[in-house]
Amino acid sequence: MFNVENIRKDFPILQRKVNGKPLVYFDNAATGQTPQLVIDVIANYYQNYNSNIHRGVHSLSQEATDAYEASRKIIQNHFNAKEAYEIILTSGTTHSINLVANGFRTLLTKGDEIIVSAMEHHSNIVPWQMLCEATGAELKVIPMNIEGELVLSNYDNILSDKTKLVFVNHISNALGTINPIKTIIKKAHLFGAAVLIDGAQACPHLIPDVQDLDVDFYVASAHKMCGPTGVGMLYGKEEWLKKLPPYQGGGEMIAEVSFNKTTYADLPHKFEAGTPNIAGVIAFGAAINYMNSIGFKAIEVYENELLDYATTQLLGIDGLTIYGTSKNKTSVISFNLDGIHPYDVGTLLDKMGIAVRTGHHCAQPIMDFYNIPGTIRASFAFYNTKEEIDNLVEGVKKAQLMLQ
Ligand SMILES: *Cc1c(COP(=O)(O)O)cnc(C)c1O
Repeated sequence: MFNVENIRKDFPILQRKVNGKPLVYFDNAATGQTPQLVIDVIANYYQNYNSNIHRGVHSLSQEATDAYEASRKIIQNHFNAKEAYEIILTSGTTHSINLVANGFRTLLTKGDEIIVSAMEHHSNIVPWQMLCEATGAELKVIPMNIEGELVLSNYDNILSDKTKLVFVNHISNALGTINPIKTIIKKAHLFGAAVLIDGAQACPHLIPDVQDLDVDFYVASAHKMCGPTGVGMLYGKEEWLKKLPPYQGGGEMIAEVSFNKTTYADLPHKFEAGTPNIAGVIAFGAAINYMNSIGFKAIEVYENELLDYATTQLLGIDGLTIYGTSKNKTSVISFNLDGIHPYDVGTLLDKMGIAVRTGHHCAQPIMDFYNIPGTIRASFAFYNTKEEIDNLVEGVKKAQLMLQ
């Protein structure tokens, strides 16, 4: 049974006060909070078996290696990857995307085209622009409409035999829109193009099945799904991971090294140079187990309730506009008050203990589309409550009175 009061007890940070008021944490789209159980996993690693992995014959190294590889298995099962070695452990979504974009430098030439959407996070734009600069490939954009949905008829027009890669987020961090990625993937495959899905914002809310999606690359960060910062994953189909060259050279990623020639290790080690965030990876597995123990179906139902409630309450405020009004969206609400800068509202809300994000949310093209400097973004997780939303609505009304 889903019981939010019990769930809140798992998160020590939710008990604290900010500026003398109980913390209302509505910045979950930037990073999620961490339950005590996951914090304990990190402490336990350093207290009891801190040791480098894969290289040692001694017991601590073996324990650390086993826990690290067990985590890879948890991630494999969660995303339903066919093989554990198709899961590459990285420092996060940004690292995962750069790894793939860098690898494609060897596979693209002038005349090739790659496709991005109009609603991407900067980390799913800039690495590809760098790829275009390095190879002469051209970047095309799937536009969006006023509701904050991708215009798929336009996608059909820009797809062609020249298209080599398509990269789109599963859920927009700025608008909350859930994109029709299965359709996007299917259409790209008709032209032989590979698809990378940025799942950083989707994974806190749903379970992607990479085999069912038939996606070529899927990336995510642990810190948005109850895990620590500085850890993430790249799922890649075996055939693609074999085609891509290593991203970084170093220890652990080699088979043999001499000054004449170095040969690379097999998957997944080819892409995991150097000592990784071992405690972080182990905690990532624990975080996924924790979220599954709550249940993604229950999380979805509850978060949709929060989203509907907050949308109705906020729209009751005169002069408030919500950006991103797709029927397919998750618990992210971007909004503005007429004639008031989002930053000023965010600052006043902070004084009331309410944490929201203000600004462009690393998605400047979306702000340009709406011709606004930024938005106030409230993003909800399964440990938030309707009472907290009432606090937000009261806070926004107060801020409006003070700033008008
Ligand atoms: C958070 C986020 C990223 C960046 O994730 P990092 O953990 O900072 O690498 C990329 N894309 C989307 C959609 C995000 O929400």
